[in-house]
Amino acid sequence: MDQQISMNYLIELKCSSCGKSFDPDRLQTYCLACSAPLLAEYDLTQARRQLDRDRIATRRRGMWRWSELLPVQDPCNRITLGEGDTPLLHAARLGQSLGLSQVYIKDESLNPTGSFKARGLAAAVAKAKELGAKRLIIPTAGNAGGALAAYAARARLEACIYMPKDTPRANIEECRIVGAQVVLVDGLISDAGRMAGARAQAEGWFDVSTFKEPYRCEGKKIMGYELAEAFGWRLPDVIVYPTGGGTGLVGMWKAFKELTALGWLKSDALPRMVSVQAKGCAPVIKAFHEGAETCQFWEGAQTIASGLRVPKSFADRLILRDLRESNGAAVAVSDEEILEAQRKMAELEGVFAAPEGAATLAALAHLVKSELVQPDERVVLFNTGAGIKYLS
Ligand SMILES: *Cc1c(COP(=O)(O)O)cnc(C)c1O
Ligand SMILES: [Zn+2]
Repeated sequence: MDQQISMNYLIELKCSSCGKSFDPDRLQTYCLACSAPLLAEYDLTQARRQLDRDRIATRRRGMWRWSELLPVQDPCNRITLGEGDTPLLHAARLGQSLGLSQVYIKDESLNPTGSFKARGLAAAVAKAKELGAKRLIIPTAGNAGGALAAYAARARLEACIYMPKDTPRANIEECRIVGAQVVLVDGLISDAGRMAGARAQAEGWFDVSTFKEPYRCEGKKIMGYELAEAFGWRLPDVIVYPTGGGTGLVGMWKAFKELTALGWLKSDALPRMVSVQAKGCAPVIKAFHEGAETCQFWEGAQTIASGLRVPKSFADRLILRDLRESNGAAVAVSDEEILEAQRKMAELEGVFAAPEGAATLAALAHLVKSELVQPDERVVLFNTGAGIKYLS
């Protein structure tokens, strides 16, 4: 086992809109000229020659076994709490109930802090530490705050969390117990974002908001690498993803492009990406169906799936572009459907999913009915978090 992988192939950061290059050896936020996210670029030609995917399979489990394709240089800075390599469960009974033979659940609830936010924040905190940041701030619907707080504690950095005051109690307590500063906001994540942004400016905190720094997306892209590996380097036909800020969706689509460039896939076929949102906050679904390139701010956002209560993602353009490029779809589901799906997933498969994760099952029923998924297709549902975190 080679635990001391001390190099990576990161070469630059690129504005996702104008293509301008940014230096990855300095702390970066986003392209101010375009108000658009930066994406990390790797030397995949070199990586293709030198990297062996089968060797990566023999390394110690977890997100960091893909280190050459992640941003952190010094192995000492790879902050970990055991994120990544979550189970991919064949959900035979659930599939059967919908007339499908190959439904899988990628169960992200097993990540540290009980959600897949751990992946993104492990990467972002690690790189911020490597580049000298000391104080990290974040607006959150809940789980991102919990993950930031835990990884900041592990990295011995300061953390400050802004969250709506009606965020699930578990999210508030998990931040406080690891020593983060918690500010409860009378409003939505968009209000929390504005307040955290102002505080960051005034006091010099580094803002790790979704897509306002480039590396949470890198941590989350590893879900795409894990899927490719688990399916023997052939990607599934359909990926159903509960979309808030869209980090995982954009990240996985980026991973599939990288996998193609690395020559690691046995088939050129890429999955159709399906975005799921709640009817009470569905800016991506609306824009997708209207043929728009960006989302409109969703007024009065309301849903029990707090991670989906994002009125407008900073990466809306990328989300919509990737959905269309994948020949994907977009589905909105009601809170009632989410609760019913949550019960069904628990009863049939033993998985107590977060409402966001359950939303993917509710959406799958719609996809089957409208024949957007065929009976023998391979479908992956993302359970992005643990249902138990949402108990009041
Ligand atoms: C944040 C969150 C989401 C949305 O993830 P994005 O990558 O921001 O789209 C979905 N589910 C859960 C449980 C979350 O915490
Ligand atoms: Zn730009």
